[in-house]
Amino acid sequence: MDFSYTDEQDAFRRELRAWLEENAPDGWLEDPELPDDDAERVEFLRDWQRTLADDGWAGVHWPEEYGGRGASLIEQAIYREEMARINAPPQINLIGINLIAPTLIEVGTEEQKRRFLPSIRSAEEIWCQGYSEPEAGSDVASLSTSAEPNGDGEWIINGQKIWTSYAHVADWCFLVARTDDSGKKHEGLTVFLVEMDQDEISTEPIHQPHDDRTFNQVYFDDAVASEDLVVGEIDQGWDVVMTLSAFEHGSTSIYTIEQRYLDLLEYCRTETRNGTPLIERDRVRQQLADFDARIQAAKATHLRNVSEQMETGTPGPEGSMDLLVSDELRNDLLNFAVNLQGPAAALWENGHNAFDETSGYIRSYGAWIAAGTGDIQRNIIGERVLGLPKDIKSETSHRSE
Ligand SMILES: Cc1cc2nc3c(=O)[nH]c(=O)nc-3n(C[C@H](O)[C@H](O)[C@H](O)COP(=O)(O)OP(=O)(O)OC[C@H]3O[C@@H](n4cnc5c(N)ncnc54)[C@H](O)[C@@H]3O)c2cc1C
Repeated sequence: MDFSYTDEQDAFRRELRAWLEENAPDGWLEDPELPDDDAERVEFLRDWQRTLADDGWAGVHWPEEYGGRGASLIEQAIYREEMARINAPPQINLIGINLIAPTLIEVGTEEQKRRFLPSIRSAEEIWCQGYSEPEAGSDVASLSTSAEPNGDGEWIINGQKIWTSYAHVADWCFLVARTDDSGKKHEGLTVFLVEMDQDEISTEPIHQPHDDRTFNQVYFDDAVASEDLVVGEIDQGWDVVMTLSAFEHGSTSIYTIEQRYLDLLEYCRTETRNGTPLIERDRVRQQLADFDARIQAAKATHLRNVSEQMETGTPGPEGSMDLLVSDELRNDLLNFAVNLQGPAAALWENGHNAFDETSGYIRSYGAWIAAGTGDIQRNIIGERVLGLPKDIKSETSHRSE
């Protein structure tokens, strides 16, 4: 495999880098700091995504006809790398941009694409993903939220979702519900686009140890979705669920982890113990070298997956390796960083980028579970990448299908 970039890819990087220098939020490049207040932070992030969208830097991987740049997978990797390099603010509508929009582009109606894609890019409408329920996480098809037609061109939805990231700020939910319970459990499911601004929908925060409010329980009590808001075929929602999951497994965060590593390296060079920089300790140097090697290996694996996907045209099961490797690396790296700080790590603030990684370390356990747990990714890798026999306990409806 050739790791060098083409002239076009280099030009893409230069153009993005120059744009970021010019357009990053005021003061961000010197001191990247998000507002503490929840509402202010949401507004700040909406503004940031709008700025990106206005100049064609949101949804770069979407086809041009839907507002993207038709960026190749290699350009997407460059995009992620450059965003990580400046610790760019996250895109508040990341679920919309990376999961919902590509799924709609693949399986939505033309009307749905025209209606929703522009407002997803600009974050005018924020999206959440309503898959998990109290009794249905890894095994999504065990869900019990139901939808029934009312005979008037509408579906009436009842049930409860859980761990729904951003539901409290979301305008729309990509929701899967049971529409027929007469067959196998992964049959009889349907995906709906559900408007969140209804009295029949309520959200309740789930308190998290790192103080952020990022996810919620969501209750649907006779909520309504019109029939033009069904994605794909009625009762055939499992295919749509799996389409979105493939996009979810394929998005890597290795570049942000690499940036955290570079921050850690800098910290070890400047931070002293008893007058000696941390980096001069053997144990620290060995550990940093080990992380460096793992990061380079993870990046190479990611680029190899990208090459494969460019040939096949669809995200393959190899994306699970990216996800698993990044989740483990992030957790190990931040664990090491927190230990290096000693008791001071207990005095953490909820900083975004300063070398205050305790909150990131706590969050990293959630990242391991989101988008399918590490065990589920191992099942996918074992069965679908390595060709090992199927897990005897797993059923056909599993998230790993
Ligand atoms: C930060 C975060 C954000 C999230 N955001 C969303 C969201 O926006 N929308 C949404 O729908 N959900 C979201 N989730 C939920 C997430 O998808 C589920 O938590 C996840 O799928 C696991 O489901 P569960 O919690 O029910 O655990 P379970 O499925 O009950 O799993 C419990 C344990 O059993 C293991 N296990 C289960 N089945 C198998 C198997 N077949 N083989 C081996 N081991 C197995 C699991 O790995 C785990 O260790 C989020 C979760 C987190 C942590």
